Amino acid sequence: MRVVIIGGGAIGTSVAYHLAERGADVVLIERNAVACAASGKSGGFLALDWCDGTPVEALARRSFTLHAELAEELEGDWSYRRMTTYAGTVGYAAARTSRTARLNWVTSEVAIHSQLGSSGTTAQVHPAAFTSGMMRAAGERGAKLLLSRATGLLYRDGRVTGVCLEDGTLKGDAVVIAMGPWSMLAAGWLPLPPVYGLKGHSLVFETGASLPPEALFLEYAEQAGSMLTPEVFPRADGTTYVCGISSESPVPIDPDQVVPDDGAIDRLKALCARMSPILARSKILASQACYRPVTGDGLPLIGAIPHAQGAYVATGHSVWGILNAPATGEAMAELILDGAARTVDLLPFGPARLAALDPARVAISRRLGG
Ligand SMILES: Cc1cc2nc3c(=O)[nH]c(=O)nc-3n(C[C@H](O)[C@H](O)[C@H](O)COP(=O)(O)OP(=O)(O)OC[C@H]3O[C@@H](n4cnc5c(N)ncnc54)[C@H](O)[C@@H]3O)c2cc1C
Repeated sequence: MRVVIIGGGAIGTSVAYHLAERGADVVLIERNAVACAASGKSGGFLALDWCDGTPVEALARRSFTLHAELAEELEGDWSYRRMTTYAGTVGYAAARTSRTARLNWVTSEVAIHSQLGSSGTTAQVHPAAFTSGMMRAAGERGAKLLLSRATGLLYRDGRVTGVCLEDGTLKGDAVVIAMGPWSMLAAGWLPLPPVYGLKGHSLVFETGASLPPEALFLEYAEQAGSMLTPEVFPRADGTTYVCGISSESPVPIDPDQVVPDDGAIDRLKALCARMSPILARSKILASQACYRPVTGDGLPLIGAIPHAQGAYVATGHSVWGILNAPATGEAMAELILDGAARTVDLLPFGPARLAALDPARVAISRRLGG
């Protein structure tokens, strides 16, 4: 069985890996480069139980376990490690007097008021390396990577039979839409509910090996009145990732055209200098922005697409796309090859739950491209 996957982010490559592991003939189509979008620019933070009590609980728990197994079994070079995770504030005078933990790499402006996770419940990967690692492992199992832009689908008797590319066509028995926020473009090819893109900005610092595996989720009130929620993740490769400024700027059609909003990077740099003397003096390796894919009800879209036999979707993972990539890939492989997912119940994520092509939602999501 040949499965064609469109999109070389964490989701598409994880689906490719699990299908190839099961012996399917897999071709992954990526228009720019593997991990060129959010999957290369996100935090890569993983949590076992932060989705507990929501429909995503089983997916997240299975994925947290799979991340540990994949890093070991594939001898992954994506800097997987366990973290201790804290919550706190930056610059709140009252909070500074009631801190519960003292970290030696932050300024006195940072007050830690609680521990959110331990090395048993929180971890991280380098997301670009993880995504490339999944593609590499898929390739070692026979999957092929095709750099081209998908422009539509081939149909025969109401069944999807392949993908139209900017430079030809590719036949397949099943097609998986895993285009992140650009999955919205596939709503022109299929009865697919809208997917939106929410923008986030981040900096990557060259901090060296000095920072411990401590992740921070902080709150900060900017003088201009905005509330920011910076996240700080020192990584095993000697870099430190910080994100913290979101916006609703429209998603450009070409992922390579995603650039930071005016002023966002300067605001983030100023915040980093207040948070840590090490960040204040470290070289900045990347100043970047990316879009996380979100759906109308905030849950991922994973499953067979109604009224289009042979078509599947896996996107809309919002802030947990790196965490949930392995279990999504595993469940998609089961769904496509066995007819039903066994490891995780995909029912809450089925595309049929959202009103496909609801005019109001489509109008909002047509913001794609401005
Ligand atoms: C600032 C920020 C921080 C984050 N931090 C975390 C975190 O700590 N932990 C976590 O779990 N998640 C995090 N996320 C969320 C996570 O990054 C995303 O959910 C995840 O990367 C989405 O992966 P994806 O594969 O669905 O999409 P993407 O990574 O967007 O990949 C989609 C791919 O499809 C390709 N494509 C698009 N159109 C076409 C086409 N026509 N033809 C061929 N290819 C096409 C694109 O080029 C792209 O490579 C964060 C997100 C942001 C924005």
